[in-house]
Amino acid sequence: MKDIKSYTLEELKKEMEELGEKPFRAQQIYQWLHEKLARSFEEMTNLPLGLREKCAERYELTALKQIRMQESAIDGTRKYLFELRDGRLVESVWMKYKHGNSVCISSQVGCRMGCAFCASTLDGLERSLTPSEMLDQVYAITLLTGERVSNVVVMGTGEPLDNYENLLRFLTLITDEKGLHISQRSITVSTCGLAPRMRQLADQQLQITLALSLHAATDEKRRKLMPVANRYSIQELMEACAYYFEKTGRRITFEYALVGGVNDTKEDAMELSALTRGLNCHVNLIPVNPIKERNFVQSETSEIAAFKNKLEKNGINVTIRREMGRDIDGACGQLRRRQKALQ
Ligand code: SAH
Repeated sequence: MKDIKSYTLEELKKEMEELGEKPFRAQQIYQWLHEKLARSFEEMTNLPLGLREKCAERYELTALKQIRMQESAIDGTRKYLFELRDGRLVESVWMKYKHGNSVCISSQVGCRMGCAFCASTLDGLERSLTPSEMLDQVYAITLLTGERVSNVVVMGTGEPLDNYENLLRFLTLITDEKGLHISQRSITVSTCGLAPRMRQLADQQLQITLALSLHAATDEKRRKLMPVANRYSIQELMEACAYYFEKTGRRITFEYALVGGVNDTKEDAMELSALTRGLNCHVNLIPVNPIKERNFVQSETSEIAAFKNKLEKNGINVTIRREMGRDIDGACGQLRRRQKALQ
């Protein structure tokens, strides 16, 4: 069946034309789907019953089912586990900040990038998500919380640039003024560094933030943590980042997960400074979230502070990521893994 929630308004108009319906029906349906967040055709009460039935026969309407929800007692962060139409599971996280609510969505079921510290990739990639499955993580959470989402980060399970076409369509729909209308500047896409795709994204000239998961300042060290570093060198990534800035004027975010004794020494901080100095960027330090399948440990608090200081002294714009939801399986992919183990 056709996936109606992944259509743009223009495409939906064509669909209605094929059904012999007037174009304004497409507008009505689009509004139900993307503004009123309808989860069934029955809800679309201003459509004639016959059309609702025709749609239900012809189209699938993606509406994710909540399987579990964990709420942090510390900061109110909520982690949702959703079931897709084919029974597969994805996680999404809802975070409350002073400046608004943020949702972190998954872009794939599992991941094939193989980063050493990440729980999402342990069983490999099952499949990529459709645009409607990415959208509906935001829609379902909006309905479940009753609160508007103002920021979206594509930083959950999966490599978004490994699902490039669907990601672009998702971005078009979520920012559409006739839908939830989330501003491009309030969206961040995080990548492990697929350099050619980063350039392709730059060419779209969107105002979204691109975050690069760097995690090491030398190729040698990076290859130990991230297999993708065997495909693209840091040099290539830096050039792709410069290109992204040139095309969009958007400052790049570099993510750097601090792993105790692996990439958190003074020397590492010096190398990272040398790499990022003079670039229009922001470095986000993340104390690694240890997963039980691997024996990585967090850096000492004093090491983290010293690392940050070193960067600051070198004039680098740096923050330490506030840890949210530590008490609720915060690290990517942990809740999904736990549920799968139970099944
Ligand atoms: N594939 C994309 C987006 C998903 S991962 C990417 O690599 O950027 C989102 C971020 O979480 C990445 O920076 C990733 O490296 C980081 N991450 C994964 N597992 C982590 C862990 N156990 N502790 C801290 N950060 C982790």
